[in-house]
Amino acid sequence: MCKRCVNRRANLLSWESTSYNLKYRRPLRCLAARKTISMQMNAPLEHLTTEEFEKLKRNALEARQRSYSPYSKFRVGCCIMLKSKECILGANVENASYGGAICAERTAVVKAVTSGARDNWLCLAISGDSLESCISPCGICRQVIREFADLKMPIVMFNGDGSKHVIKTLQDLLPLSFGPEDLAD
Ligand SMILES: [Zn+2]
Repeated sequence: MCKRCVNRRANLLSWESTSYNLKYRRPLRCLAARKTISMQMNAPLEHLTTEEFEKLKRNALEARQRSYSPYSKFRVGCCIMLKSKECILGANVENASYGGAICAERTAVVKAVTSGARDNWLCLAISGDSLESCISPCGICRQVIREFADLKMPIVMFNGDGSKHVIKTLQDLLPLSFGPEDLAD
């Protein structure tokens, strides 16, 4: 029980039956803290140390500085972390002909593929400027990521200062997807 609920036992939630708690031994928490927990209890980044996760976050946030978004003023940064822990960054790049704009995720994907890093992606992270919400990849980007990434790859979505994040797998974000193997004979 967290400190905020010492005197409010009625607000307790029962988390004990979740497989997540069984596996990762999170302590039971209270209703007041539920939002924070739900932000963190999605798909875990099992293969990242705390330092590597901080590196992923720092790169996803800093990548926004490379954004060219004079029309929308909506900066987005993306970081693809390879299994080698090398990071490939991307940002959204807009165009006076609006349809020519490209999202941060696709920028990073194109950079990775054209630099020879087509495989061995560990995870992908994005961030916007909103402090309130964690943005998620648009539909086109989800499909483009699907071309090269494992469906189990985690996608980490940060808010503007990295104080919040949501983790989902590509499978979560793009269920029943169509990929390269579907074109095989
Ligand atoms: Zn997109």
